[in-house]
Amino acid sequence: MPVGLVPTMGFLHDGHLSLVDLARRQNSSVITTIFVNPTQFGPQEDLEGYPRDIPRDLELLEKRGVDLVWIPDREEMYSKGFQTWVTVDDVTRFLEGKMRPGHFRGVTTIVAKLFNAVMPDKAYFGQKDAQQVVVLRRMVMDLNYPIEIVVAPIVREEDGLAMSSRNVYLNPAERQAATVLFRALKTADQAFKAGNRDADGLKRIMEEIISSEELANLQYISCADMDSLEELSGQVNRGLLSMAVFIGKTRLIDNILIGI
Ligand code: AMP
Repeated sequence: MPVGLVPTMGFLHDGHLSLVDLARRQNSSVITTIFVNPTQFGPQEDLEGYPRDIPRDLELLEKRGVDLVWIPDREEMYSKGFQTWVTVDDVTRFLEGKMRPGHFRGVTTIVAKLFNAVMPDKAYFGQKDAQQVVVLRRMVMDLNYPIEIVVAPIVREEDGLAMSSRNVYLNPAERQAATVLFRALKTADQAFKAGNRDADGLKRIMEEIISSEELANLQYISCADMDSLEELSGQVNRGLLSMAVFIGKTRLIDNILIGI
């Protein structure tokens, strides 16, 4: 009687719900957690302002047939004097891990705690957070968790913007500008499919498109090995194209896998 776990930070959208639907199809019981995990936010990040709407989330989850929603409070997860962490080394050094020091320590610690409490057979994560998937797969292997990590594709708005709880921060002009991330990824993907296999060339294509959007400020752009997450150079046969871009004050990430 398999149990599926879908960890979230709430303010649910169709990306989250696609994970729930997948879990519903593959398990006899589905548990969703909603927890805005403070330890994965940096001191300058949006922990307190992070959007929340628990009544709406519960309604959506009930409609999707979730069996149990667990909404721990902060004290339950991080008791006074908390000092035990789960860290994953190499694959957290790049990309998001480099830009957001301590972020993945927070992620791996909370996910390990959720795994310990729920003991699911399968756990569901989105390709939207590509590095998170790599890091959590590593953690599951290294700590011998008997849990299968299931990854679901990125759910996008009609104009290509990857769904994210943080998209509510965008004003109308920024919302329009935010389509630039997927446009850049798609153009690089098309170039790759047309035979342009040079990692730096692909990054340049994306950079040019991002810099053509006035409201966009590129933080990083990457063409990385999809397993080790090390940056690639020269000719590539497959890889993970990813980026973080500020649209106004809002930091957005997106990615696409090429050559698979
Ligand atoms: P969050 O609430 O942002 O922590 O996300 C919870 C889970 O939903 C994570 O595994 C995310 O990768 C996944 N997720 C978030 N946005 C999307 C999306 N647009 N498509 C697919 N999965 C997503």
